[in-house]
Amino acid sequence: MTEFDILYFAPGLPSHGEKARAAFAEGTLLINGNRIGIPMSGIGVTLGGFNHDQLFLFWHQEEGRHAISPADANALAQLVATAPAPLAGLLQGARKDASRKQRRSRFGLGLLGLFLLLPLLLVGVLVWQSHAIAGWAAGHISIENERKLGELAFKQATAGLKLREGGVDAAAIQEIGARLTKGSKYAYKWYVAEDPAINAFAVPGGYVVVNTGLIQAADSAEEVAGVLAHEVQHIELRHTLKNMAHSLGLRVALSLFLGDVGSSALGDMAARLSELRFSRELESESDRLGLLALKRAGIAPLGMVSFFDKLGRQEGAAPPALLSTHPASRERMQTLQAMIAEQGEWPAQPLPYDWNAVKTAAQ
Ligand SMILES: [Zn+2]
Repeated sequence: MTEFDILYFAPGLPSHGEKARAAFAEGTLLINGNRIGIPMSGIGVTLGGFNHDQLFLFWHQEEGRHAISPADANALAQLVATAPAPLAGLLQGARKDASRKQRRSRFGLGLLGLFLLLPLLLVGVLVWQSHAIAGWAAGHISIENERKLGELAFKQATAGLKLREGGVDAAAIQEIGARLTKGSKYAYKWYVAEDPAINAFAVPGGYVVVNTGLIQAADSAEEVAGVLAHEVQHIELRHTLKNMAHSLGLRVALSLFLGDVGSSALGDMAARLSELRFSRELESESDRLGLLALKRAGIAPLGMVSFFDKLGRQEGAAPPALLSTHPASRERMQTLQAMIAEQGEWPAQPLPYDWNAVKTAAQ
């Protein structure tokens, strides 16, 4: 006689069943060694439980319905192996039913998992394709919307800075800038920030900020013109806009996914605009088109090389901010020289500024 573990359900027992041992002997069912006194033909087989894949034997006695269910897979195997006819036949049919239902429930769980994973997959695709998506999105923003976004970013980026539009230095920057961006689709605005750090940065929509520190470090207007000619290309070619669309797009996608929509993604990123780094390809593109802008404006190109070269040679603990985003690597300087040689000489008048007076104004 083979005994197996079961859960026993009967009137008066806990609704989740009571642990017991069962066995078949002499054509009847024994529970904890006691005959239940019901013939095999009086015992039915049914499926129940959460997924309707749990096997039950049931029968009726005077006080109500009784049922047992094998406690584990081992007990189920023993029940099936030792059950006499006609119960054995019923059990075979029920087990086939159960495995079909289990397969269906696994499929259901698979679908549920897929739905739960879908947002993660979407974020994954967004991250994977984010440069392409951001590039496409930035390419489709109207100049008007770019200007509005730029205005917001400009306000954020310059929140802590003391900006000037007047003065001999600001006037020189505005005039040189206007020459370099003649015919542009952007209405440029030029500012001098009273900040000793040697830096300048461009904000989408046509905002350019030059620090007094950069004016002080320059030995001629041509050197500043070289920096401006390069910086405006990041606006003209929408490098900064694409970079912002990329970071913002990811931030928005992630914050939607994490349910954190309230974070001021634009503010955070605008605050770091002056530290924005571009790939070597984008920097090289800005160098090349900046050089052509100098040529169109009739400004001598050598200031572009001499300024970065000079900053690169500067001894000091911390390199100037401009160099951390625009390394004066030997490779970049050589490429610049080659580009200049390729263009040949062009007619250039010295820029008409008393540079010492400009530097004094920038003190
Ligand atoms: Zn650059």
